[in-house]
Amino acid sequence: MSAGRSNAAVKSGDGPSWSGTKVVATLGPGSLDPSVLEPLLLSGVHVVRLNFSHGTLADHLKAVQNLRAISKKHQLSIAIMGDLCGPKIRLGTVQGDGVRIERGASLRLVGEDVVGDSEVVSINQPDILTDIKVGHRVLIDDGMVRFVVTEASVQGLTCECKVGGIIKSRKGVNLPDSNLQIDALTEKDIKDLEWATTQELDYLAMSFVRTADDIRQLRERLGAQCVDIHIVAKIETPQAVEDIDNIIEASDAILVARGDLGVEMELVHVPRVQKEICARCRRSGTPVIIATQMLQSMVTESIPTRAEVSDVANAIVDGADAVMLSAETAVGAHPIEAVRMMNRIAAEADHYDEHLSRPIAANELCHGVTAAVADSIRSIARKVDAVAVAIWTEKGVLARLLSRHRIDRPLIALVPGEDVRRRLALYYGVTSATVSKPDEIRNCLERVDEVLVREGWAQQGDPIVMGFGPASMEWGDTGSITIHKLGTRRH
Ligand code: PEP
Repeated sequence: MSAGRSNAAVKSGDGPSWSGTKVVATLGPGSLDPSVLEPLLLSGVHVVRLNFSHGTLADHLKAVQNLRAISKKHQLSIAIMGDLCGPKIRLGTVQGDGVRIERGASLRLVGEDVVGDSEVVSINQPDILTDIKVGHRVLIDDGMVRFVVTEASVQGLTCECKVGGIIKSRKGVNLPDSNLQIDALTEKDIKDLEWATTQELDYLAMSFVRTADDIRQLRERLGAQCVDIHIVAKIETPQAVEDIDNIIEASDAILVARGDLGVEMELVHVPRVQKEICARCRRSGTPVIIATQMLQSMVTESIPTRAEVSDVANAIVDGADAVMLSAETAVGAHPIEAVRMMNRIAAEADHYDEHLSRPIAANELCHGVTAAVADSIRSIARKVDAVAVAIWTEKGVLARLLSRHRIDRPLIALVPGEDVRRRLALYYGVTSATVSKPDEIRNCLERVDEVLVREGWAQQGDPIVMGFGPASMEWGDTGSITIHKLGTRRH
């Protein structure tokens, strides 16, 4: 048995003793050096994101190597999520430090590679020009500079500036009204995903997903390579919001990417969309990450604003499994403080009664043996006032289905391998440990006792509910539940 240390549920020094929300931290120039990375990981990071939009594969390789060395040294189980760029549309080169476009001015958008000025700029994907029609919006640099198309032809578009500003080389272009006929995976994505699978990353996030077919396409490609990497669908287009139920069903996890979503949709609609996606994910038992600008002011300041603290807490109350840091940990001046702050906010928000006790309605329950075991474990844990719940889960399905119940006590998942364990790092409330496939119940109970005592979550004689999913075991393949008292041995 591996004696791996659990880093899932976090104990906070000055708040309630247990928290289930997971923290995703994006690595970048501000956090890659081991002198920062080591304390960062130790301050309560459960998943790291490698953003393929920035840095080279050599940079990402160094990050993976350093992270694995630190994880080994401290026996941490941290998942790695590679984030594919997707078909992000960008401007070509613009002269100097950029050019100012005034409101009312006219700008040509063309496919040929020109050095842009205040009259004409190029875009990196000329094929899409024919998908953009008169009246469509063209939003540059996260919507800071805004245009509407007044003339469209195969040679290019003429756009009228509605909100003026400076446009610079390679700034992002969002086209929220256009139905773009572009491949979901670019050539760069394919290279990046091959690298990600070679490096055995745990999650692969897909950007600019439009429909569930995009996810299926990625899954087929990964299936052809015989790799078991879980797919995170980034929801950042109105088309994805439209197809959300199918996307949730096709994906292993969802990421609400509020940055691009807030450009592609009316900004004021984003909170409602976030709440709806969280509720749907919770019903289906799909982990959901809320991302972008959560503690944005900590890029420069050592404490966040009141509004940011409320945003993180409200995301947790909405049902997020995980909250994500982007620039705060990638390039910020206070990456470690930002991770600590996330965990402190979570430790409070996780204990809001309404959030934790909010039941899943009977008509929202998943079906099947594993789901039945999960539902029953939750109900028994409450009835016997168990201090913790423990499960044996071979692939993590029982952990996922139980995690959605937000049981207000530690949930310890015993798994057969480190790969499943790392994946569970994303699931709300799950603390994991490895155990070789148990041929008898006692092995599991002893391991559970060990974890509970080490974490200080239970004492001798405390009741614990232990459940087994329908994995094929010698002593039963239909799932079972037992009530155990800490420290009592079975012979
Ligand atoms: C976002 O748009 O909110 C997001 C998380 O994606 P990225 O950081 O890749 O822009």
